[in-house]
Amino acid sequence: MQVRHVLHSWARILQGYAPALSIEITRECPLRCPGCYAYEPNHLGGAVRLRELSDFRGDELVRRVLALVEREKPLHVSLVGGDPLVRHREVERIVPELTGRGIHVQVVTSAFRRLPEAWASMRKLTVVVSIDGLREEHDKRRAPATYDRILENVRGGRITVHCTVTRQMAEREASLEKFVEFWCGQNAVQRVWFSLFTPQRGAFAAERLDPEQKRRVVEKLLELREREPKIDMAPSALRQFLKPPASPDRCIFAKTTRTVSADLHTPVTPCQLGGDPDCSECGCIAAMGLAAVGAYRVVGPITAGGLFHISHRFGQLVASTRRKEAPLPALVQIAPEMAPGPEAETP
Ligand code: SF4
Ligand code: SF4
Repeated sequence: MQVRHVLHSWARILQGYAPALSIEITRECPLRCPGCYAYEPNHLGGAVRLRELSDFRGDELVRRVLALVEREKPLHVSLVGGDPLVRHREVERIVPELTGRGIHVQVVTSAFRRLPEAWASMRKLTVVVSIDGLREEHDKRRAPATYDRILENVRGGRITVHCTVTRQMAEREASLEKFVEFWCGQNAVQRVWFSLFTPQRGAFAAERLDPEQKRRVVEKLLELREREPKIDMAPSALRQFLKPPASPDRCIFAKTTRTVSADLHTPVTPCQLGGDPDCSECGCIAAMGLAAVGAYRVVGPITAGGLFHISHRFGQLVASTRRKEAPLPALVQIAPEMAPGPEAETP
């Protein structure tokens, strides 16, 4: 991370803004992946489900997203879903608008649809394609976004592969090696990231890894990254999987990323996963990367994380003063003429 970016982010935190904004840009997804957190009943706290929200499309969606970004002033925007490519026409308009304002944009997709050609040359855009393990398992879990379809849809593009390691993958002999060999060998793949499945507290999940499996996965990834430069994960971040943040309150990622759902109004808390995630088993790569930065000793016993938490508290005071001076009802103010539009299209 460049010093300039760190200073920008720090300034945003001191002003009481989150440097990163994640937007569930549509409630729709053509996939039905087992273990998908976005469609869990408690993803939005239990009162309403993602599929029940009103979402937007067309000019309305573009205008509202830009207004939200204008208000929140993030340095980094993630477009997630549902699948953002369900709204590909709108997303194709939104992305250059944001990168043109100097914002780094990340689109997280299953690549069930062909990626726009223009995206391959946009330096401030990262397209993250989620791939769940080897072909046999992935194709079963993520049809219609199968291996063959992804390969076809990303041809000529520039993508980051993101794999969430599940128990099933951890149990299969040499699955990580085979996965790395296959995807790092594809021209379109610039980088490979791994997360580990994060369970919700108290819920049964077949994907959950036990501590021994987790330890072996981390060891294997530390080994694989030595010989495969496309694995873009620092050793300190990988080791952090074995000692994740104790709670959302100690999680730098949760405190620096504001997530809003498909009505562009409902917040997703405590982090992008929503619901009641078990931080003690967190496997989110973004949380681990920032936790590793937070563990860095700046001087003596003072860590970057300690400085962050002090700065964050200060920023919250600044933000509450700002709210008292100019009260805003929610994450985005909705003008009457911008009331929820017609039902979402299905892909
Ligand atoms: S593609 Fe993503 S949002 Fe859609 S069901 Fe799968 S995990 Fe959930
Ligand atoms: S589940 Fe992970 S990302 Fe979410 S708040 Fe807990 S530690 Fe942070």
